[in-house]
Amino acid sequence: MTFNPFYMQVFKFGGASVNSVEAIKNMAHIVADHLEAPLVVVVSAMGKTTNLLEKIIPGVPKSEDERIALIEQSKKYHLDIAKQLLPSEDPTLEKLHQLFDQLDKTSSQLPTTYNFDYDRIVSFGEIISTTLISGYLNSIGISNVWVDVRDVIRTNENYREGIVDFETTRRQAQETIKSRLNIDNSQLVVTQGFIAGTAAGTTTTLGREGSDYSASILSYCLDAESMTIWKDVPGFLNADPKFFPNTVKINKIPYNEAIELAYYGASVIHPKTVKPIQNKGIRLDIKSFINPKTEGSKIGPYDSIEPLTPLYIFKNNQILISIQPKDFSFIAEDNLQTIFAILSELNIRVNLMQNSALSFSLCIDFNEILLASIRERLEKTFRLRYNTGLQLITIRYYNQDIIDHIVANREVLLQQRSRTTTQILVAG
Ligand code: ASP
Ligand code: MG
Repeated sequence: MTFNPFYMQVFKFGGASVNSVEAIKNMAHIVADHLEAPLVVVVSAMGKTTNLLEKIIPGVPKSEDERIALIEQSKKYHLDIAKQLLPSEDPTLEKLHQLFDQLDKTSSQLPTTYNFDYDRIVSFGEIISTTLISGYLNSIGISNVWVDVRDVIRTNENYREGIVDFETTRRQAQETIKSRLNIDNSQLVVTQGFIAGTAAGTTTTLGREGSDYSASILSYCLDAESMTIWKDVPGFLNADPKFFPNTVKINKIPYNEAIELAYYGASVIHPKTVKPIQNKGIRLDIKSFINPKTEGSKIGPYDSIEPLTPLYIFKNNQILISIQPKDFSFIAEDNLQTIFAILSELNIRVNLMQNSALSFSLCIDFNEILLASIRERLEKTFRLRYNTGLQLITIRYYNQDIIDHIVANREVLLQQRSRTTTQILVAG
């Protein structure tokens, strides 16, 4: 195969595709099969590393013993894998030790603000995974350049959900990634998903599951020909197979449909991912890393999904908060403004909301710390009530039979319908 310098591709490998020795070897095969053109590989933290790191953020309740044990657990997990993949004299092993030392130091510091500390700590997951994987690929002759994406993707200081400065990012991507591909005569760059950097050099993240978005930002800024998300499912399914036995693969998805689905929480793709590639008409493939040769799903300029079938999105661990003014005034614009200012300040995304004259209800992902912050700010003026452990079900292209079947014998707390979509909040 002749090398085509103009057909740049961006691949994204999520946590599940690099969570073991076998997974990383498999990933290396996929990469090796696609070196006929420049390739940028964006990698998430391995396995459930981000969840683990969330527990050692300064200020998150835990004992010192727990903190140390969690770091040890993560270190053992990564080094066990690294030792099986790398020769014992490989300098990558030393780098990994250093990263865990840094993680230990950073996580033992006094808390500042939750969002700032969050990004500083969880970003280790991606730095560690890419260090390991880049080192492994080099060790087996797949020569690549490791790029710290914090020098490429620039965001503002909106920690935990940085807003991307596309102009600076584009310039930095051209300078750092394109130039390095040429200078080092390498066809391959390995870099991190999810994380980014500010002008002041601090670390930000793009929101949970943000690595898809990272790949999309880089595809846009590097004018990639196509982007591929490698997943443990055969493509975009009409429901999460964890919740649903008979799933259907959607072969073609219009850009706008993908945006809607992601917005409602389809875990197959991060909500912000589609816009940048849609703007440039870059095709997005979702493919199986287990069967890399089979056709996956394509997101592109199509008119409707194909095949046309109901689509289900389930979100667990939801909390419904009902907010009532203590003085029995009505819920009106000024009250809503107060509530939304607080939600926006805390970077909380509302999954469903409804208001009546006397109360305003909102459904969000459960998070203990954020809930405490909401209470602290709202409970002076409002009375708050909660229901926890809820499930939010979104169905696109629904019909009444489907709804009846889904809610049978379950307590419905809230339901909304539009022409194409219904959302139902049920007790767990
Ligand atoms: N590692 C991050 C997370 O688990 C980002 C990602 O996987 O996309 O949320
Ligand atoms: Mg992930």
